Formats: sequence, C-alpha cells, structure tokens
Amino acid sequence: MAPHCTDTPPVPEADSTPTQHDGHLFHRSLAQAPHMVESASGSNLHLSNGRTVIDACGGAAVAIIGHGNQEVQNAIIKQAQKVSYVHTQSYTTPVAEELADFILDGTPYGLEKALFLGSGSEVIEAAMKLARQYHFERNEPDRIHFVSRKQSYHGNTMASMSISSNLARKVPYKGFEYQHVSHVTPPYAYRYKLDGESDVQFTERLLRELEDEFLRVGPEKVIAFVAEPIIGATAGCIVPPTGYLSGARKVCDKYGILLILDEIMCGTGRTGTFFAFEQENVVPDIVTAAKGLGGGYAAIAGMYVHTKVVNALRQGSQALNHGHTYQAHPMSCAAALAVQKILRRDGLVERCRDMGLVLEKLLRSELAECKSVGDIRGRGLFWAVEFVKDSITKETFDPSLGFSGKVTQVSFHKGVAVYPGVGTVDGLKGDHILLAPPYTVTEEELATICQTLKEAILSQEALHL
Ligand code: PMP
Repeated sequence: MAPHCTDTPPVPEADSTPTQHDGHLFHRSLAQAPHMVESASGSNLHLSNGRTVIDACGGAAVAIIGHGNQEVQNAIIKQAQKVSYVHTQSYTTPVAEELADFILDGTPYGLEKALFLGSGSEVIEAAMKLARQYHFERNEPDRIHFVSRKQSYHGNTMASMSISSNLARKVPYKGFEYQHVSHVTPPYAYRYKLDGESDVQFTERLLRELEDEFLRVGPEKVIAFVAEPIIGATAGCIVPPTGYLSGARKVCDKYGILLILDEIMCGTGRTGTFFAFEQENVVPDIVTAAKGLGGGYAAIAGMYVHTKVVNALRQGSQALNHGHTYQAHPMSCAAALAVQKILRRDGLVERCRDMGLVLEKLLRSELAECKSVGDIRGRGLFWAVEFVKDSITKETFDPSLGFSGKVTQVSFHKGVAVYPGVGTVDGLKGDHILLAPPYTVTEEELATICQTLKEAILSQEALHL
C-alpha cells in the first residue's frame, strides 16, 4: 500500500514525474491520491515514473514472501484452469480442503476447523458471531457483551469497528455501533506502566482491570475478550509483558468467557512463530488471521476454531450460522496454499525471527541519535518506532503536525515505504511508524531501510524540534 496521510501537505517528488493518480476509483483520501505502482518484485515496488521503493512495511504487514513470486502466480493460473468458483453450500474443492488441512493438520493447540473469508474484518465479524453462537448453543443466550482494548484495531465493518478503538474512524458512525462493548487498558507499557511499577505488577493491574470489567458488566453477560497478541496498527507493535495473555485466559476461564485472539496482522509467522500466541503460553478459543495468509496474492482471511467451540455446535444446531458467497474461494485458497507451502518449505518463519534480530539491532543503533524517538519495540519482523516531542516527559507532538505522516512521506521519497501510525487514539496521539518487511528481506535492504528512516526522522527533527 502506498502510504498516505491526510493531515500533512505533500512533499515534492524526487522525480519530476508525479506518481499520484486520481480517477474514478474511490481512494481512501479524496484530498491526496495514492501513488501508482506499475509492478512489484521481491521487496520492491516499481512506480509509474520508473522509481523503485523498498516496501519496508509489506503494504500493511501483508507481503510476507515478497512480491511477484512465480510459484504463486503459477498456482493461481493452474487453479483457474481447474475450477475458479463453487458455492460452498453444496460444494467444496480440493484446494480449499488442502489449505485448511495444511494449516491445521494435527490440530495444533486444539484448533480444529478453519473458515476462509475475504478480509480481516469479515473473519472478526464471523468470530464474534461464532462466539455468540457458542453460548447460544450452550443455553446461555444472555451473553451479549464483548470486552476488547483501547488502542486496538479489529476492522472496519460495523461490529468489528465497534470492538476497535480507532476513534477517528468511528466519528461519522456514532450511535451506529454495536452497543454491548467495552474497552480496557492494553499492555502498552511505554504509556501506561506507572513509575516504579514492575512488569509483574503492571500485568496484575491490567488483569485486575479486566476482571473488574467482567464483574461490572456481569460476567454471565460477556461473550468474549478480544485481543491482538501483539497490537499492530493503532499503537504500534505492543508486545505484552510475560504472563499477560495467559493471565487473561485464566480470567476468561473463571467466568466461561471465550478468548478470541486477533492475529490478522501479527500472525502467520510475522513475530517469529507461526501463531503469535505460541510465545505467550496461551491457547485461544478462536484465532483470526489474514494478511500473511495470502501474502497479498489473494484477498483471503482465516478463522481457526478450537474443538471446544466446534463441539458446542456439534452438540447443538450442527451448523455454523454464518456464510458468504465467496468463502473458501478456490482462487484465493490456491494463492494462500502456495504462499503457505513456500513459507514452510523455505523456513521463512524462522528466517523472520532471525532477520528480526538484525532489524532490532540496526534500529537501535541507527536511531540512537534521533531525539524524537521515544520507543522502539516489536518482535520478529514487526517493529514500531514511536515519536515524542520530549523523550523525558514523553510529551507527544501536536497532532496537527502529523509528525509520523511527514516522516513516512520523506522516507517514501527517499525510497523506503513505511507504515504511518494512525491519528489520535483514545486521547493519545499514536505518532509512530511500523516496519513489517517481507520475511525474504535481505540484510542489505534492512540496512538501507534503517539508514533512510534515520535520514527522514532527522529531516523532520530539524524542522520541528
Ligand atoms: N484486525 C487487525 C489486527 C488488523 O490489523 C486489521 C487490518 N489492519 C483488521 C483486523 C481488519 O482487516 P481488513 O482490513 O482486512 O478488514
């Protein structure tokens, strides 16, 4: 995805030929058109004016095996020659079955069934409905409430937006949202850990808040707690302290509340293990995945469901009360299967973990001289840099400045695309950028990414500090 930011003026193109295009296609911003990408290969985006930009954020943490992979292209063509579509009410296809089996063979962590839909928001929506159906089948129809967290993002559709905390995106829809939702404090240590508080005390405080919230609502009314194991876009790679997610699991279990982990951004290897939750000693009831599943070669997202939930349906209505025309789409499944086979065959999850260590080292050394860098955090190839006006007081920049948007733009014009943090979230300005390069990224590319990012940050510090 070409980065754009609506609240910052455009930086002049390094090349005189503009790459921005505005036609009949409805872009996210009517004020600033996105850049035209003519082709893409490996870690690179090739723009319409002949320039090449390193895709240091994999779009939005999507392009996990890089762009233009021929094996995936061939798999898509082969599938198109076999069968491009069937309706899943009556039919299935070998490729859809194989994809589900490939991911869930051996029922890892008790995850037994996979549903494949078209987008992250759709699988979150499906997960919310399935969680509700789970309680309904078990004769607990009073459960109608979801608890999620501040500074979290779960999607754009009505219900997924309701459990999200990206306030800017909700403004025009006040009153439209699903009402039975509340949000608790996330494990965002840089902002929420108190002076002198240890990780253990911080974790205990957050878990107490979660339990108090269940008790405030009435635990018999709560369907599920929804959380990203590592919070992505809205707060920037928030890694929880050890024991936070396993502690949340225990609090959920105490009251029969389901745990839904949203791995749409942080999953499918991005943090160095296939599931992000594997590093947290926790087993969720429902997991969502999306971006890395198809690696950008197809619009596909997955919902993986624990046997405990499947059994409730088996013993109840014997059906998932949810479906879409394009679910388990054979073309999408073919693309995702090819991506997943490459991921496993080439050991790319392990590579992601190892290259992540390289990226962390480079970030910490290159950005050491940047005064506006308040925090560098992440895991695997999923890293965020948070900007502050004052690194001692952690005072944020004036949101109207759009500091991270400007850093993003300058970096783009210097040849490196990073992902800008999204606006004001729950009273805090989320001034950060995300890095999420393909797992195939080279050390040289990582060095260029960090060097360019430093130059972009220093250019803005010279203007605004
Ligand atoms: N959950 C998370 C954690 C995400 O990062 C996103 C997308 N940024 C979504 C849900 C929604 O996915 P989509 O944009 O595919 O609907």
